[in-house]
Amino acid sequence: MEINAMKCPNCAGDISYSPGQRVAKCPYCDSILDIKADPADIALKQAIESQKDTEAARAGYLEKVRKWKLKKRIFLAAEFLLTFIAYLLTEIPQKDSGLYELGMVIVLAVFIAVVAGPIWLNSVIPPAPNVIEEQIRLKKGPIQTIKSVALTFLVMLLGLVVGIMVYSKDKDNAETDENSTSDFDTGISISDERED
Ligand SMILES: [Zn+2]
Repeated sequence: MEINAMKCPNCAGDISYSPGQRVAKCPYCDSILDIKADPADIALKQAIESQKDTEAARAGYLEKVRKWKLKKRIFLAAEFLLTFIAYLLTEIPQKDSGLYELGMVIVLAVFIAVVAGPIWLNSVIPPAPNVIEEQIRLKKGPIQTIKSVALTFLVMLLGLVVGIMVYSKDKDNAETDENSTSDFDTGISISDERED
């Protein structure tokens, strides 16, 4: 435990006291003395308090940022999945099932979401308290929204590409099953050509 010391103004005896103690009794002359708070102690206490406030503000902000990033990931995942589903619904032939129309509604929603999603995400970016350093602040503004639109568009294209890949693979498999005998014939004819 830290001990401070002072001289008794009455008898010049040594008086020791703990930090934060406001009254001390001289052990030699029994004088009761008021201890003035040390300005350095006050400054230190204030610095510690403000450090705690800063840490609490930062922790609160980082938690909000984490939640915001989660919303963004969920949005992008939904954009990807819906594009994929919409592609399959509109491409795979169905007989009056209404799935094509559902697919087209999803296509419309996906197109709206390419712009509306980033605008919404930009509007719910958590405000950063003043104590938050520039490098950990989420940037907010039209440029961020445009970047976000570009990213969402790429995710949509990815959903489309994956849809095309899955669908064409299915179609190939189906064709291979149907024409397995003719494939065999073609194979032979190709090898005959190579021999010539
Ligand atoms: Zn004294």
